[in-house]
Amino acid sequence: MSTPGQTPTVQQKRALAILSRLKQLYPGATCSLNYETPVQLLVATILSAQCTDERVNLVTPALFARFPDAAALAAADLSELELLVRSTGFYRNKAKNIRAACAKIISDFAGEVPQTMAALTSLPGVARKTANVVLAHAFNINAGVTVDTHVKRLSQRLGLTQHNDPVKIEQDLMQLLPQADWENWSIRLIYHGRAVCTARKPECDRCQLADGCPSSSLVAKQGANARPPAKAIPTA
Ligand code: SF4
Repeated sequence: MSTPGQTPTVQQKRALAILSRLKQLYPGATCSLNYETPVQLLVATILSAQCTDERVNLVTPALFARFPDAAALAAADLSELELLVRSTGFYRNKAKNIRAACAKIISDFAGEVPQTMAALTSLPGVARKTANVVLAHAFNINAGVTVDTHVKRLSQRLGLTQHNDPVKIEQDLMQLLPQADWENWSIRLIYHGRAVCTARKPECDRCQLADGCPSSSLVAKQGANARPPAKAIPTA
């Protein structure tokens, strides 16, 4: 994002206008995973890979009742852990990573989830996406933009990135948005991706971002009944 005094680019203005609209549409948007501690958020986020947050929230009550903290998870029997997280998919890898990440938290970080991107991504099974979620929601630190499948798809459809690689998409978005809003962007785009701009059937005809979306006429031609938003998003 441009520094104070610099004129924002056209793309930055577009991104800000979209963000402003998203904030109006989803004012109370927050992380949909249930957790009580940073370790529990880390574990829930690892489990959410290739799985819905809804499914993860069904699994974590029993998991956290049995293994409530990093010490308990690090000492867990692997087969028992696998059984508890089985329904989230890829459960062998997830269980192995959760146990190893918690072991490293105990051995290298005095039992506390670290609060930097470098330290978090040194944990087994933790890449930038997971680290961004944990830093933003457990510690209120905007270190990057969380790019999950919804953020990727919508940022592409909205014409804010040409990339496919999540790390490159994240870099594009970090250039376009103020740091304080990086997680605001992701959370609200995820809401919009679930509610309106779904992967299979984007509902452009009722989308409140359609006036600024270059894909609105390309992705879906399901009718011309779009409700015009009060103020149009700049398109050029
Ligand atoms: S106009 Fe269509 S493609 Fe664009 S964000 Fe809305 S639903 Fe998605």
